[in-house]
Amino acid sequence: MPPNAEPAPERRVIVHMDCDAFYYSVECLRDPSLVGKAVIVSGSGPRAVVTTASYEARKFGVGSAMPASRALRLCPQAIVVPPHGELYREKSVEVWGIVRERLEAPLQHLSLDEAYADVTELDKPLRVLRALVAEVQERTGITISVGVGPNRLVAKIASDAEKPAGFVVLSREQARERFRHSPTRLLQGIGPRTAERLTQMGITTVAHLQDAHAAMLIERFGERAGMWLKAAAEFHGSTTVDTSRVAKSRSSETTFDSDVDDFEALQATVRRLAEDVCKGLVKRGTRGRTIGIKVRYDNWTTLTRDRSLGAFTNDVATVTQVALELLAENAPQRPVRLLGVRVAGFEGVVNAPPSQPSQLRLPVEV
Ligand SMILES: [Mg+2]
Repeated sequence: MPPNAEPAPERRVIVHMDCDAFYYSVECLRDPSLVGKAVIVSGSGPRAVVTTASYEARKFGVGSAMPASRALRLCPQAIVVPPHGELYREKSVEVWGIVRERLEAPLQHLSLDEAYADVTELDKPLRVLRALVAEVQERTGITISVGVGPNRLVAKIASDAEKPAGFVVLSREQARERFRHSPTRLLQGIGPRTAERLTQMGITTVAHLQDAHAAMLIERFGERAGMWLKAAAEFHGSTTVDTSRVAKSRSSETTFDSDVDDFEALQATVRRLAEDVCKGLVKRGTRGRTIGIKVRYDNWTTLTRDRSLGAFTNDVATVTQVALELLAENAPQRPVRLLGVRVAGFEGVVNAPPSQPSQLRLPVEV
C-alpha cells in the first residue's frame, strides 16, 4: 500500500425490520373479527393504559401509553381487547426464528417486534429480504416493514417511512435529501426535551440542524452531544449491530386501581410479584443476586431499594423474604400507587457500562 493511501471505508448494509402493528396483528390472528376495526389493546381498571392501537383507532388520535379512558373518549366505538402477552412472545419467536435462519446473521432486538441485522455479507441482500418478508407473511401472518441503509440511523428511519408493508432502501445522501424538511425528532436519539431546546434555538427541521454551526450546538449541548447532533443531521450513524444484549434484570410491577395504604395488602402484593418474577427466572434458567423493590406513592415520587445476596437465586421464598424486608425497612409513609419487585445481577452476565442516556444516544462511529 502506498504510504499515504488510507484503506477504503468499509461499507455496511444494515437492515431494520419492524412488524406492522404487531400486537394488533396477533390479536387479529387470534380473532379475525377484529380485522379492519378500531381496536385498543389495554388492561382493564381505571388506570389502564393503551398497549397498542390499530391504525383505525390511531386515526382518532389514540396512541400507545395513553390512558385507556382517554383513548375511549377519543374513539368511543373502539373495541377494547386485553393484552395476550404469551401469544405476542410466541409469535415473536416464530417471526424472528425465520428471519435469523434466512439472513444467517445475528439480530439486535429492540423489542418483541423490531430488530436490526447486518446483511453486508449476503450476496443479494435486497432479494433475500424481499423473499424473507413474503415468507414471514405467509408462515406467520405478520407483515414486516423493512428499511435498508448504510447505518442503523438510516435503516430505522427507512423502515418507518412507508409503513405498513414498507420496503425502503436509502443511501445516506438520499436520506439526507428526503428528510430535510422533517422535524428533528425524526432522528432517533433526539427526544422531546432535546427537540424543545433545539426549537428554542430556531432549529425545528433536519435541514435547520444541517445548517446549524457545530460550535453553537457544542456550546449549548456539550462537545459529545453537539457533535452527535451535527453527525445525525447528516445521517451518519452507527453500523454496529449489537447482538450481545442480554437481559440484565427481571421485574414485575403492578399499578393499583386505587392507592393502597394498608401494609398487609402491600405485603400480599409483594409476595405475588416475587412469585411472578421467580417464575420468569426459573423458566429462563436464570438466577440473580440483587433483589429490589420499587414503590411509587400517590404523589408520583418513586423509591427504589435493593439488596445483594452472597449467592445467586431464583427461589421464591428467598426473593419474597428479602423483598418483604425491604418493604418493612422502608414502610411507606404515603398511600402507594405502584409496587414492583425486581431481581438483577444475573449469573454469567458481565456488567456492561451503564446504558447511554435515552435522550441523546451517542454514535459509536461518526
Ligand atoms: Mg412495530
